Amino acid sequence: MTTSAGARQAGWIAGAGNSAFALTLPVTEQMNHRGIRVIHRYTDDAAGNGDYIDWWSPEIDINTGFQSLNGGTVYYDPATGQLATGWRNVAGNNYYFADGYQMKPGSDDWVYNDQLHGQMYTGVQWADGHCYDFGRDGVAHAQSWNDGWSWPFPASGEGSFAFGQGFGYNWAGRTNSYHDGLDFGAYDHPGADVHAVHGGRVIDIATVRDQQARDLWWYALVWDGRTLFVYQEAFSNRSRIIVNVGDLVYPGQVIGYRDLSHLHLGMNTSPNYRMDLAHSYQPNWTDSSQATGSGSWIDPEWALRVRPY
Ligand SMILES: [Zn+2]
Repeated sequence: MTTSAGARQAGWIAGAGNSAFALTLPVTEQMNHRGIRVIHRYTDDAAGNGDYIDWWSPEIDINTGFQSLNGGTVYYDPATGQLATGWRNVAGNNYYFADGYQMKPGSDDWVYNDQLHGQMYTGVQWADGHCYDFGRDGVAHAQSWNDGWSWPFPASGEGSFAFGQGFGYNWAGRTNSYHDGLDFGAYDHPGADVHAVHGGRVIDIATVRDQQARDLWWYALVWDGRTLFVYQEAFSNRSRIIVNVGDLVYPGQVIGYRDLSHLHLGMNTSPNYRMDLAHSYQPNWTDSSQATGSGSWIDPEWALRVRPY
């Protein structure tokens, strides 16, 4: 501000033309990504203990709010300076920001990606088990018609399951008598087309090999932000699975063609399939060193019938 501006502001006060001042405030790292206010104290005492009037500036955002970073958009919380993750309501709109964890293809491990941390979702995505169109501007619009469920072989629906095909502690022939999924046999649930039971994103397609390095089967993993869906033991080779890593799938969409004796459908609360698989013979796992912390197997028969979300 110039001194003549000071005179314009309060010209009736004697000496106003000499009263304006300008200050330069160095922006420190502590201020970055925060909203700050500058407080001016006008006082008759050099130590500030006399009569005084305080003037508070409007909030000044220091490189905060929505910002471009790593080729996408992130949001810095003006109060904490932290990159937002998960759901955020900003000016009445809902946005979703990635936590930075993703499946490392082929390893089935859930790993941290610094570039992904805080990235705003755009386009169609599943978050917390529900489908949204975040468009180009990141504003969430629910696509609830994509939140449905399907039986993997809709023509036979739920059908029936023989002894040992069900979920949980049901057959002494297995390790710990525990079955971490539900088996849809080719004889009790006929048909080759395997339909997605819920929407989500394909996060890995990989194979399980025997000790001679021959493919036993291929599997596909679909994650909806809440549940990991494992489609395994149905596909003899990669070409039997017709979706790719990164694809979105919708409930009822054909994702592959079964050519083995059954489809094993697994559902876990953790997307860290390496950890889930390491705990195939127990209902759940907990490990504080892992990003998701814990995982629990869900009974697919219950979920497909009850449709819990
Ligand atoms: Zn099974």
